[in-house]
Amino acid sequence: MNEEALSGMTPEAYFDSLYEQDAELAKIERTIRDHDMPEISVEPGYGRLLTLLVGATGARSLLEIGALGGYSGVCLARGLPEGEGRLTSLELKPDFAKLASANLAAAGFGDRSETIVGAAADSLAKLEAEGRRFDFFFIDADKENYPVYLEYAIRLANPRAVIAADNTLLRGRTLNPSKQGPAVVAIREFNRIIATDPRLTSAHLPSYDGLALAMVKEGGFLGQR
Ligand code: SAM
Repeated sequence: MNEEALSGMTPEAYFDSLYEQDAELAKIERTIRDHDMPEISVEPGYGRLLTLLVGATGARSLLEIGALGGYSGVCLARGLPEGEGRLTSLELKPDFAKLASANLAAAGFGDRSETIVGAAADSLAKLEAEGRRFDFFFIDADKENYPVYLEYAIRLANPRAVIAADNTLLRGRTLNPSKQGPAVVAIREFNRIIATDPRLTSAHLPSYDGLALAMVKEGGFLGQR
């Protein structure tokens, strides 16, 4: 790389520039544009982190809240062991869910992924009623419901399950006291719970748009079921 170019780069752009173009993920982004869907997939550095965390934790059962076109779904599924494990994605919009399923199938995860259409809170209630449990959660849907999704994640968690959640900075709105809309208020509350809930071991990453990470302590869910 031309070292002159370094001076104008954000840390995120610098690190992104070190990686080869990912043809599969670039194709997913193209399909999202082609369908006139919002281009709000998880940032590439956090996509890589999701793959790494799923792999490093040995997670087998993954739950994603907010599928869009399947970009983060593919990043999550890539961390699963060869031929094992399963990704469940929750998505409100049927056409988005259809594209996410198609892109997961194209990436080779068709037989190890399912996309459930509907409001995530309803789908989570059904998963809980069915007794489903998960090793890894990625929360990336409507911000107003992040505290609700976090509580469900803790209740649906296997011991030592990991919870990741994107957009904890809301493009700066989280830190702007004049912003008091429902999404901002909910994200501030979510960030506070992540930091203080005794059932969690947690960290907040402040790069890109902010990522929260938590591990549900062994027994952390006891008393909640
Ligand atoms: N995780 C995706 C990725 O990185 O590829 C991006 C998800 S996008 C930021 C948010 C998604 O959440 C959208 O697809 C949106 O339709 C979905 N969504 C919004 N409200 C929802 C709800 N109440 N239940 C389920 N999905 C919802």
